Amino acid sequence: MSRVYNFGAGPAMLPLEVMEKAQAEFLDYKNMGASVIEISHRSAEFDEIINRCDELLIELANIPDNYKILYVHGGAQMQFSAIPMNIIQRKPAGKASFVLTGNWAVKASKEAARYGEAVNIASSEDQNFSYIPEFDPASLDPESSYLHITSNNTLFGTRWHSFPDTGDVPLVADMTSEFLSRKLDISQFGIIFAGLQKNLGPAGLALVIIREDLLGHALPMTPGLLNYKTYADQHSLANTNNTFAIYMMSLVLEWLKDQGGVADMEQRNEEKAKLIYDCIDSNDFYYGTAQAAHRSVMNVTFNMRNEELLGDFLKQAEAEGLYALKGHRDVGGARASIYNAMPKAGCQALVDFMQDFAKRNG
Ligand SMILES: *Cc1c(COP(=O)(O)O)cnc(C)c1O
Repeated sequence: MSRVYNFGAGPAMLPLEVMEKAQAEFLDYKNMGASVIEISHRSAEFDEIINRCDELLIELANIPDNYKILYVHGGAQMQFSAIPMNIIQRKPAGKASFVLTGNWAVKASKEAARYGEAVNIASSEDQNFSYIPEFDPASLDPESSYLHITSNNTLFGTRWHSFPDTGDVPLVADMTSEFLSRKLDISQFGIIFAGLQKNLGPAGLALVIIREDLLGHALPMTPGLLNYKTYADQHSLANTNNTFAIYMMSLVLEWLKDQGGVADMEQRNEEKAKLIYDCIDSNDFYYGTAQAAHRSVMNVTFNMRNEELLGDFLKQAEAEGLYALKGHRDVGGARASIYNAMPKAGCQALVDFMQDFAKRNG
């Protein structure tokens, strides 16, 4: 068996130990003579899995008591619809505010406009989303039901290094490409959500962490299975949930705990990103596409000054087991997605390759 270093943005690589554990118990979960994907979502065994998942999330992310953990169908983008349906009417103005830092925030804003008024209060589109725009929290309309941000911009390789104090307006953060990669103060947020496939598990499901007072404001038309209260009241088991994804996430969380938890992981992630950014900055052959002060720790975007070499770069990288480095078409160039599961050795292998490629082609 040979496994590549997978730099794909998502679905992304998962820790090898997690895949091996899932493989080892796939046919016979805990001596049941059945696979975890063949047992009832209402069985005692699955109950233990989902409870353990909650417990690990509370511990690893330090989630306060007044928040609910929900496992919601449809991945991250389904929450672009579910969030306005659930909370845009909590204030009579029926209004939501957005900071546009990339395609995901733009999509979320457009979707919210179907259910109320979506106001874009700041944007970095003028420079192809290569930075996080400044905005004055005082300019935020207090009648806004929430402010939506994308904490880490997967395509463009930028992130919010710190979060604005939005006062009484709940801050809603799409953390799909970074949840559990850095320490957070959960109490700064009204809702945090993340599709699992970047840092937490398989695709198709979203983790939603919501402050309790934001439940119970859903528009009457909200489908039962997009109403967060349904999930909160029935422990995300109103219907048959994606039991396999929840199981896989529980294994990823156990692994993260074994690695020393979020603080240790954050430090390792910063070291990993620094390796690659230092290589980019110290070599005229390459340049970073995001402004240095706003760089992401999870998605490193860069290009070659001679862009004609990009095709060769990607092809030769892949031959060396450095997989899926092609950047998003809206940015061009290359992108190394280095979520929690990417070992430092993978980043070092990329840097070695980048230096060698520059020497051969510079
Ligand atoms: C990948 C990604 C999404 C889309 O996730 P889906 O589960 O495919 O809907 C949304 N937001 C961010 C920040 C992402 O990185």
